Amino acid sequence: MSRRKKIYEGKAKILYEGPEKGTLVAHFKDDATAFNNEKKGTLEGKGVLNNRISEYLMSHLAKIGIPTHFIKRLNMREQLIRQVEIIPLEVICRNIAAGSICKRLGLEEGAALPRPIVEFCLKNDDLGDPVVSEEHVAAFGWAGPQEMEDMVSMTLRVNDFLSGMFAAVNIRLVDFKLEFGRHYEGDMVRTILADEISPDSCRLWDLRDGKKLDKDRFRRDLGGVVDAYAEVARRLGIMKESPALKIIPNGKSA
Ligand code: UDP
Repeated sequence: MSRRKKIYEGKAKILYEGPEKGTLVAHFKDDATAFNNEKKGTLEGKGVLNNRISEYLMSHLAKIGIPTHFIKRLNMREQLIRQVEIIPLEVICRNIAAGSICKRLGLEEGAALPRPIVEFCLKNDDLGDPVVSEEHVAAFGWAGPQEMEDMVSMTLRVNDFLSGMFAAVNIRLVDFKLEFGRHYEGDMVRTILADEISPDSCRLWDLRDGKKLDKDRFRRDLGGVVDAYAEVARRLGIMKESPALKIIPNGKSA
């Protein structure tokens, strides 16, 4: 495994060359970072859970016609994905005010937003991923007009679908972040959903008591981070019994 060519190493994932041209293997690590890398930690079992949760959510989105980079899960920590050229934007969708929008616009955490709000941030760690307008995106050519239209419409469909899926298991989808990529097929290029969808990239609150079931537990030192992710997996029916989940640190067996 270690002889595979590493293409990229990010904060929570490593990408290796895939078995066929145009494919990559995404390896989900247990590392966690927050506040633009100022806070770092290792959460044993997080990678296993995010691999499974992201597989589950991406597979369901594919079934409703959202094109994604996900091909199949290979083992506990790895999935086979389509190679794409990542569009350098983070697309954030918010239903409830939380996180950075509260500071930016003086909103109270938990306030319902008038309608789902889609925001774009430039993927640039040195600048702290600043919010940018569609005017900036167009002027600097980070994404084309059709790509912007595709990203917004897919994001709103993902929001409708996942809000319903989570509500059915008593979880509120507060907000989430998506990344998209350009997938080249011969002369054709299309925009597809990439990266991951997991409690690292979503805010998920228990509908009954408001308990946070996402990365805010790490950001705010609330403890029980992996237990909360396992609870999300368990409610979605992915992991049958969360506490007994057998996690092999950095293990690769399925
Ligand atoms: N998010 C993410 N990666 C980032 C920034 C945000 O996955 O680099 C997710 C975050 O987990 C939340 C949503 O996007 O679900 C909105 O995040 P926000 O802008 O409020 O920033 P934060 O408070 O996380 O810094």
